[in-house]
Amino acid sequence: MPRIAYVNGRYLPHADASVPIEDRGFQFADGVYEVVTIVDGKLADADGHLTRLARSLKELSIPWPVKPATLRFIMAEMVRRNRARHALLYIQITRGVAPRDFKFPKQPAPSLVLTCRRTAFQPAATLEKGVAVITMPDIRWLRRDIKSTSLLPQVLGKQKAAEAGAFEGWMVDGQGFVTEGCSSNAWIVTADGTLVTRQPSNEILNGITRLSILDCMRKLGIHFEERAFSVAEAYEAREAFISSASTFALPVTRIDGKTIGDGRPGALSLRLRQAYMDHIGSTDPVSVK
Ligand code: PLP
Repeated sequence: MPRIAYVNGRYLPHADASVPIEDRGFQFADGVYEVVTIVDGKLADADGHLTRLARSLKELSIPWPVKPATLRFIMAEMVRRNRARHALLYIQITRGVAPRDFKFPKQPAPSLVLTCRRTAFQPAATLEKGVAVITMPDIRWLRRDIKSTSLLPQVLGKQKAAEAGAFEGWMVDGQGFVTEGCSSNAWIVTADGTLVTRQPSNEILNGITRLSILDCMRKLGIHFEERAFSVAEAYEAREAFISSASTFALPVTRIDGKTIGDGRPGALSLRLRQAYMDHIGSTDPVSVK
């Protein structure tokens, strides 16, 4: 697969793509992003990701660098030029280049960058075993509903999880309730069989995969509760999983070293993974390689 990037109107070989050092994304993390998964050459949940991108831009008063319809065209062009089959499309918009000053530039010229990277998603072995997560304090700001490029807490969290041999970190608020994963939403199936995920608010990023899984559940008539759950409740859960554009619904079988349920991916988690894969039109529902 060739690696072609898009930077402010130009398609370039990835290695040659760059932005100026006074880009406010580089100086202040003054930008937003989206990750859209490409499965079988098709963009998954593109409408949802573009809707959230529009919201993130609006919340931060960053103007669109191009019209939304043009961005859609660029996205399709990136799939084509990269000959992408299973890949991740990264889209970043910053407030653009300006002399370093905290205040917004008077005439902002927002930057638009897209990159594309081939990915293998989850190998069958991962799906058979499920993944481990560890919990950690949520040290982020209070506008987590904006998909900002300011990700230092998640960088530290993911590193801590990796050092502990875990796939993901679940962040926990001051009251002992799980907010979400460092780059995913968190779900449990309680001991009495209720599917629970935290309600959208400023305290979590409202995942596009999360929203689609909830839609799948409504269609399947599966009952769920949108509420906060504690770490203690998660330890006692029958099943757990995470959701994100790149992991879909991915079963969690260990939390802080404790075995969840019978230690194997839960039936409901796998059913929802399949439902989500059907929703995005994947031909290889459970294990996309
Ligand atoms: N929560 C956080 C903090 C994230 O960074 C992400 C994705 O990167 C998600 C949730 C899942 O969102 P989505 O399903 O849109 O990928």
